[in-house]
Amino acid sequence: MKTGTIYLVGAGPGDPDLLTLRAARLIESARLIVHDGLVDPAILAMAHRDARLVSVAKSRSKHTLPQDQINALLVREALAGHDVVRLKGGDPFIFGRGGEEMEAAQAAGLACEVVPGISAANGAAAASGIALTHREDASIVSFVAGQCKGLADQDWAGLAGKGRTLVIYMGVKTAPQIAEKLMADGLAPDMPLAVVENACRPEMRVLRGPLAGLPEMVERHAVKSPALIIIGTVTARADAALARVLEETVS
Ligand code: SAH
Repeated sequence: MKTGTIYLVGAGPGDPDLLTLRAARLIESARLIVHDGLVDPAILAMAHRDARLVSVAKSRSKHTLPQDQINALLVREALAGHDVVRLKGGDPFIFGRGGEEMEAAQAAGLACEVVPGISAANGAAAASGIALTHREDASIVSFVAGQCKGLADQDWAGLAGKGRTLVIYMGVKTAPQIAEKLMADGLAPDMPLAVVENACRPEMRVLRGPLAGLPEMVERHAVKSPALIIIGTVTARADAALARVLEETVS
């Protein structure tokens, strides 16, 4: 019997307009879509009416399905001859466990195709007007994961500071430890940062402030996941640009 293909598809940060054409075509034609919690309902609504939609929603605190069971589900369906669209927020290979799922497919001898998506960092940058690189401000960008497990063991030294932009995924809950860690690494307490919540969605919020004020900012504005923390002088540049626009509007 012919086995199915596992497609690891990036759904981007939210807005269906930010899907690649390849992703949109696969979503529309799929008969089986296995998706996580970050995929916007508007994107799931594009699925064929006969498609089976299986949620394996994962969030920091509740794991509906552990990763090995997700891998097993994908492999089982493909071995049974079904093509599987594994739909993920952002890009499958940026904090998306896409690597693990690809390895599971390969170990089972199954065909696997990866369809890239716009990662939250790229979506948030565009939507908030924060250029992650700028000839006058930053020529290095790093993406890190800020979740609790192993945070203290991660070596971020040198990733943030002059000429550099640091983008932190999954950092809302650990904001106090993140600010502390970066300042312990020598980052100035007044280093500008931005928090972008729900980037590329109608309810997007962009907050700006100094590094030392991050924990208070997150708490006062009740910032919720999904949100990114962008650290570096490029975020202050966006402030200036925004202020100019406002001034022009007023005058
Ligand atoms: N594969 C995804 C990342 C998954 S990890 C990607 O490439 O974007 C989940 C984290 O991504 C969230 O905790 C948050 O930090 C970030 N994220 C995802 N979607 C987001 C959005 N619309 N706005 C802001 N951050 C987002």
